[in-house]
Amino acid sequence: MNEFDTHEVFNQAPPFEGVNLFACDTALREALEREGGGFAEPALRELGGQLGSPEILDLGRQANANPPRLTSFDRSGRRIDEVEFHPSWHKLMALMIGAGVHASPWEGGRPGAQVARAAQFLLFGQVENGAQCPVTMTYASVPALRQAGAIADEWLPKILSREYDPRPLPIGQKRGALIGMGMTEKQGGTDVRANTTRATRGADDTWRIVGHKWFFSAPQSDAHLILAQVEEHGLSCFFVPRFLPDGSRNAIRVQRLKDKLGNRSNASSEVEFAGATGWLVGPAGRGIPTILEMGSHTRLDCVIGSAGIMRAALTHALHHARGRAAFGRKLAEQPLMQNVLADLALESEAATAFALRLARCFDHPDDPAEALLARILTPAGKYWICKRGPGFCFEAMEVMGGNGYVEDGPLARFYREAPVNSIWEGSGNVMCLDLLRAFGKTPAAREALAAELALAGEPLKPYADRLLADLAGAQADEYGARRLAERIVVAVQAALLVRHAPSYVADAFVRSRLEQDVGGAFGRLPDGVDCAAILARSLVE
Ligand SMILES: Cc1cc2nc3c(=O)[nH]c(=O)nc-3n(C[C@H](O)[C@H](O)[C@H](O)COP(=O)(O)OP(=O)(O)OC[C@H]3O[C@@H](n4cnc5c(N)ncnc54)[C@H](O)[C@@H]3O)c2cc1C
Repeated sequence: MNEFDTHEVFNQAPPFEGVNLFACDTALREALEREGGGFAEPALRELGGQLGSPEILDLGRQANANPPRLTSFDRSGRRIDEVEFHPSWHKLMALMIGAGVHASPWEGGRPGAQVARAAQFLLFGQVENGAQCPVTMTYASVPALRQAGAIADEWLPKILSREYDPRPLPIGQKRGALIGMGMTEKQGGTDVRANTTRATRGADDTWRIVGHKWFFSAPQSDAHLILAQVEEHGLSCFFVPRFLPDGSRNAIRVQRLKDKLGNRSNASSEVEFAGATGWLVGPAGRGIPTILEMGSHTRLDCVIGSAGIMRAALTHALHHARGRAAFGRKLAEQPLMQNVLADLALESEAATAFALRLARCFDHPDDPAEALLARILTPAGKYWICKRGPGFCFEAMEVMGGNGYVEDGPLARFYREAPVNSIWEGSGNVMCLDLLRAFGKTPAAREALAAELALAGEPLKPYADRLLADLAGAQADEYGARRLAERIVVAVQAALLVRHAPSYVADAFVRSRLEQDVGGAFGRLPDGVDCAAILARSLVE
């Protein structure tokens, strides 16, 4: 130090980077193996190392600090409706598409492919979340598009391609394609039956679409699946490409980009269809079930995405607490801080276990029990796990003190990001009502849930019995639907941990979430929990 230096910097934890995000996550590695994705372990280990590098982690910061811009016209005044992204966005997109996050389960139907992909998605979620939106929509569009005959023949090879090709060109000239979805209008997003966008039949097999969408993410996508009203039939699903077969731009006018709380790297727009051309997908009047094929997969990704954000927040917080001291002791060694961190670690492990178990349901759509579980655990998980995200990120931020609150680190970004998974793709209440609907329509779902919980045996029996008994009366109880969804998810999480996690994790989860009410702040673990063991397991450094 020379005489004018005021101080040395010390007691600041180094950034959490230069780590293997997969190797340091015991819960994820174990879940991958047991849910059937073990074949992907070597590739995920390599991906985890790549994603945890300082260069890749910094792409997330850059992409959000430099949000996309809409360019409506070219310099001659012609309408182009193009979105300009920072190079970091394109790098993130190329990484995800190159890894097959948008496509791998559809490539050969390998058992465990959904689970392996879920692990990838969970890792990417610890880097950047905005770029996950177009990747999710593209992935989720495939089951719906398979019903689309000639469109599927032409488009699916481009959609499944591992080449990211952002060029605004007709599909014939592209090496890869992205797909989005447009349902929400100004007068309602949940109640899509109120959509006013209209489609009228053209001369050939095309339809002419006039109307608007109030939220239309990734308008740079090569096509969107949208909903529009068809006279005498009602709401129908249409495939609306950005370019028409003659090479001209389709009449989709991007009005503006949304100025959002988080998810700032991603472009979400408002659009008008000024006589846009579309092709019918699925039968006329069956638009909602057709597009819901897509919706169930995007909801799965909301669950995995929130598990990823929570994992990211936990690792940054725990790493910080291990590297910073107060009153002569590391924060991670202080009893009250251990209670907070271990509580967060339990929540994160339970979310990871649940997300990969749910992904396994999607690996086995032809197994009736798995399909029934997917039907109920998707909305319940979308409700509860996404709902836990913002509070979790806030608590992790507080572990880092002021350093957590400023934009130099990633916690502020994760915190701003966390609520959107709860809002889009069916907001919290809507998920809980969907859960009731699922039980009402398919009573066998209760048996599938009972069978899943029974696997955990005695430790869970009293709680499972109460939940299953309460289910009978709960199915018409809109007022209590949130509580029901929460209880179902927590029970499934507890069952997974009782069966597969070390006893110090399972016991702490059961005691803190089943024997006492969930809620309030994190850091309410009861006496006798082995916090040090939980923390040692949760982040292997
Ligand atoms: C960043 C972002 C990107 C988006 N991208 C897209 C996109 O690409 N495509 C697209 O189609 N949409 C998109 N959306 C829209 C999103 O899906 C909707 O905002 C969401 O579905 C809710 O619809 P809404 O905003 O119209 O709210 P509303 O439908 O008005 O709902 C408001 C609230 O009321 C609750 N509610 C509704 N019905 C009931 C009921 N019966 N009982 C109790 N509570 C009820 C809901 O849970 C919600 O909390 C995006 C949203 C965001 C924030």
